[in-house]
Amino acid sequence: MYSIASASTTHIGKVREINEDAVLETGNLFAVADGMGGHQAGEVASSLALTVIEEYIEDNLGVIPGEKLVEKAMGAANARVHRKATGSAKFRDMGTTVTLLYREGDIAYIGHVGDSRAYLLRAGGLKQLTRDHSLVGKLVEDGEITEEEARQHPQRNIILQALGLAPQVEIDVVSVKIQPGDVYMLATDGLSSLVEDPRIEEVLAAEPEPTTAAKRLVDLALEAGGTDNISVVIVGFQESATTVPAAGAGVAGTGEEAPAGTEKPRAGGRPRSAAIKKALVVIVAVLVVLGAGFGVAFYFYNRTFYVGSRNGKVTLFKGFPFWELAMVERGTDIETRFLPEALRRRVEGKLEPESKRNAERTIGSLEREVEKNSSIVPDVVGKKFVEARALLEKAGLQAKVEPAGIPGMPADLVVVSDPQPGTRVGKGSQVTLKVTVSGPQKEV
Ligand code: CA
Repeated sequence: MYSIASASTTHIGKVREINEDAVLETGNLFAVADGMGGHQAGEVASSLALTVIEEYIEDNLGVIPGEKLVEKAMGAANARVHRKATGSAKFRDMGTTVTLLYREGDIAYIGHVGDSRAYLLRAGGLKQLTRDHSLVGKLVEDGEITEEEARQHPQRNIILQALGLAPQVEIDVVSVKIQPGDVYMLATDGLSSLVEDPRIEEVLAAEPEPTTAAKRLVDLALEAGGTDNISVVIVGFQESATTVPAAGAGVAGTGEEAPAGTEKPRAGGRPRSAAIKKALVVIVAVLVVLGAGFGVAFYFYNRTFYVGSRNGKVTLFKGFPFWELAMVERGTDIETRFLPEALRRRVEGKLEPESKRNAERTIGSLEREVEKNSSIVPDVVGKKFVEARALLEKAGLQAKVEPAGIPGMPADLVVVSDPQPGTRVGKGSQVTLKVTVSGPQKEV
């Protein structure tokens, strides 16, 4: 058996007006959640999701085994948040990421939806246990952009999956056999998008005390700008020589207190003459003006395209989203109706401006999303029914049969497919096949 030492903290950051993150730290269950949706709905989504998960696991402890338990608990949270979101205009479109660790025996189950992350520090090396369900996460996975480019990507806030956005959600669950010395960390993107993995590894490896490590990580994110809410949960496992109670072992950080990590190393200043100082000030001022000019030019040069939709299809525009005069650079055949609901709304509301190259990559990744969620009706007309049905099933579609009495035709042939072959339809859609009936044909 292991003893657990844990800590959790959530910080509003330096820019946001509310903290939409939530954290959970109880006996064997630890989680972070990053809520979204306007007017404090995000706050409601993240805390509601964690409450439902905690209750569900408590109620079904020992009844449902670990992996299923995590999946069902997160499914229950999804249903609850979605119900609340559809129940009133105030909460419309709200959702939340959830990344959790549930410990059962010597197994850590990591449940995950969204772009928060779980990491494991083992033997001094850091490993990410989750994959981001985000547009840029996809681009990184596909090798289109680097982790570094992802941090700067204008579309970095677009999430492909989150709890509460739809009646059903895909939940990732991985299980890890715990080894003594393991340190698990859960964090929202307010940390991972600002602090690079090697820095996280350094802090976790150097600081065995979870509360101190969590505070250091939050400080690093704040120093890097603190542009988002920051939440960190750290769970360390040690072989228990002395029996330390596992439940509530950690110290939960309180919400808004700002860790005062102000031990900034100061460059050793040597006294300078006033003249040199004055000259330096002038040079710096000139550089700042030049730099700002280049910066602005670069910004505009680099972001004059955006992805939006026109007539239900993904379209590349030249110009800025706020210009009425933006021009169509090129249209595509990618139909927005096959995108996941949340993403569809984002695209229809125009994505952030970006460079042409990045916009093309964004389109590529939207195309792959559409391909994942839809199928093209295969060429089934003229085929035997059994063969046609197999083709449809292979494409993830269902066959519905209607008998067609056509004199002189051999039986069991598909004569009409509705929709027609070549049409793109949602995954799981029904395709009606008119099939010639067997038995003697009546002459008309
Ligand atoms: Ca966030």
